[in-house]
Amino acid sequence: MSHAELTTIQPVELLENLKAHPFLAPYHLSFCCDQDGAGRFKSAFTICGAVEQNPLCSKICRTMVEEAVQRASGSGVPVVFRCHAGLLNFAVPIKNGDLPFSCIIGGGVREKEIDLAHLEVLSAADNLDVVALLGELEQLPTATEQEVTETAHRVQELVPSLLTRNLHSLIFEKTMQRLAAVTGVSAGIDGARTACDVMGLVSETLGILFDIARIAILVPQGGGSFAVKGLWGLDLDLGSVPAAKAHGIFSRHRTDQTVTIEDDCRALFPAVEADRATCIRFGSGDELLGVLVLFDTTLPPRDEMLVKLFTGRAASRLQQVRSEERHSSESAQAEKLLHMFSTLSRTEGKEELNQRILGMAADLVDASSGSIMFKNDNGETLKIESALGMNMQLAQSMVVQVGTGIAGKVAASGHPLLVNDIEKDKRIGTPNRPRFKTKSFVSIPIRLRDDIIGVLNLSDKKNQGIFTEADLKLLITFADHASIMIERAISIERADILEQLSITDHLTGLYNRRFLKRRMEEELSRSIRQNLGLTVMFVDLDHFKIYNDLCGHLAGDRALKRLARILSESARQMDIVTRYGGEEFCIILPGTSKKESIFVAERIRRAIESEEFPHEENLPQGSLTASIGVSSYPEDGSTDAVLIKAADVALYRAKADGRNRVAIASGAEADEGPHLKSVAQNQQ
Ligand code: GH3
Ligand code: MG
Ligand code: MG
Repeated sequence: MSHAELTTIQPVELLENLKAHPFLAPYHLSFCCDQDGAGRFKSAFTICGAVEQNPLCSKICRTMVEEAVQRASGSGVPVVFRCHAGLLNFAVPIKNGDLPFSCIIGGGVREKEIDLAHLEVLSAADNLDVVALLGELEQLPTATEQEVTETAHRVQELVPSLLTRNLHSLIFEKTMQRLAAVTGVSAGIDGARTACDVMGLVSETLGILFDIARIAILVPQGGGSFAVKGLWGLDLDLGSVPAAKAHGIFSRHRTDQTVTIEDDCRALFPAVEADRATCIRFGSGDELLGVLVLFDTTLPPRDEMLVKLFTGRAASRLQQVRSEERHSSESAQAEKLLHMFSTLSRTEGKEELNQRILGMAADLVDASSGSIMFKNDNGETLKIESALGMNMQLAQSMVVQVGTGIAGKVAASGHPLLVNDIEKDKRIGTPNRPRFKTKSFVSIPIRLRDDIIGVLNLSDKKNQGIFTEADLKLLITFADHASIMIERAISIERADILEQLSITDHLTGLYNRRFLKRRMEEELSRSIRQNLGLTVMFVDLDHFKIYNDLCGHLAGDRALKRLARILSESARQMDIVTRYGGEEFCIILPGTSKKESIFVAERIRRAIESEEFPHEENLPQGSLTASIGVSSYPEDGSTDAVLIKAADVALYRAKADGRNRVAIASGAEADEGPHLKSVAQNQQ
């Protein structure tokens, strides 16, 4: 057997094979090798470990074993020796051609009789608990010195045959089996849908197929340090490896080189308590996703090759799955945003809109509280308009000066703020106020073109987490779109206010219906108080639709303006002339009785009839005329709604009777027959 061949047969495999022989079952076996060829055995063996927990064993055994190995190497025959604890051990030298000298060490069995007196002396010398030691010794299998000697000789006879074809074919078979299993699992890896599935398969395969008891992965994190995550047989969170310490491992992993850690193992991974670790690159192409750490394991080269083959494939699948996950979460997010914007665009009213925007923003980044603040008209202060997770009354009472405090600074600078720890962040420097449950928050300016109109604040991420850069980006996009909706709501509100404020009709300059309603109430209550009459007059142009059709809408408008002038000129100072809508006008004549109003109405009708409107000759009656309905307080009613309705019914009668005439309400008429305007319309 050549030297090269020995290196392909690993001690682990040799020991595994020996252990499969029943006569060696009770023994703890290890292997040592003359590593430098000068007869110095460099710690390549583990001591018997029978009473490993006991300091007595670990302290004394190493030198005893080393002595025995030296003797065996000198004599070439097995050496049986009794350790201080009374355990029987053997050292079997393996000589094979020009190989470096190696030795199989067996131990961990005791003689039937335990030499109590000796044990006591020993324990006393080392200040040990003799009862505990005795308890452990009693658990061990027993053998006579004769039996141990025979066992040692059988081992010596057995090893050469194992080192030949037998072991080779066995190893070959095992490698082929593992290759087949790895190929099978690799196909499974390709079908894995999530990053979690991929890592689950990696740890299971390494743990079960390669018989590795404890596996962790080092994952690059910020600042050059690495998080240690347990994958198999370990806790999930195992702390981190600082950048300075990790440098050695990771610089070599750039070149795909396997690294064995021995001396530093405990220092690097204090949570694991292992003496040795094999580190294998876990990456795809140039990207290093992590480093797999296999504890207490030395992989034979064939297995190392298989593991690398498998983990390489797993890493590239992981990368693929991550990018798929990223894409699908991005498109799900885009869909969610679209849905949100469509809901917002259908939302009416500023208050409701603000509440929705805040709720949606909180939902996007998993925040459980927050607020929307807007600047006041002079832009000096901010006030909360909508709040989540806090008392609204209280929230509304808080006024923040632009430029001071967190939100105030964001409103002044226009720069969003992401804070992981409010207490440590130098930009803030204020202690965490008790209303925040967690110390992380985000503050985003709300912009309208070049102006900052407010601030969106979110805090208390669910699960006590911290807000991320990705959260911030998402919120900025959301706030940009939401501000368009806010602008829309503001302009609608302004238009409403303006409309509310306006009392005149654009086309004619007369008062409008809203003003009429207000004034009518005032005038009527005054008439009632002063016991005076009041008349309501409805004037409606006849066949005005036809006039429009014949002469065009613009001519129609001009006719309406002219009519407005006629009505204003015909009315007294105290009368209120309004455009009720379309080509209908309403005049209130305070202090005018029914009787007097008949003359006024007739005068108006004639004035319209005699006015020369362009192209009026084309109308059915040859002239543009109007019909007038009149009702009066107290005869026809004592509320504005009833009086308007009565005048309207009268107008309808004037139309029905042939148009271009005045009809006077006759008391009970308001409740009768069809009429032009409903009560609902009048009450608007
Ligand atoms: P009737 O004699 O029964 O009152 O007939 P009409 O055609 O006047 O009555 P209707 O109420 O059916 O039609 C009113 C018309 O007045 C319809 C519309 O073309 C016209 N009109 C309403 N407001 C305006 C306006 O602001 N400008 C113009 N040019 N026309 C208007
Ligand atoms: Mg009309
Ligand atoms: Mg008309």
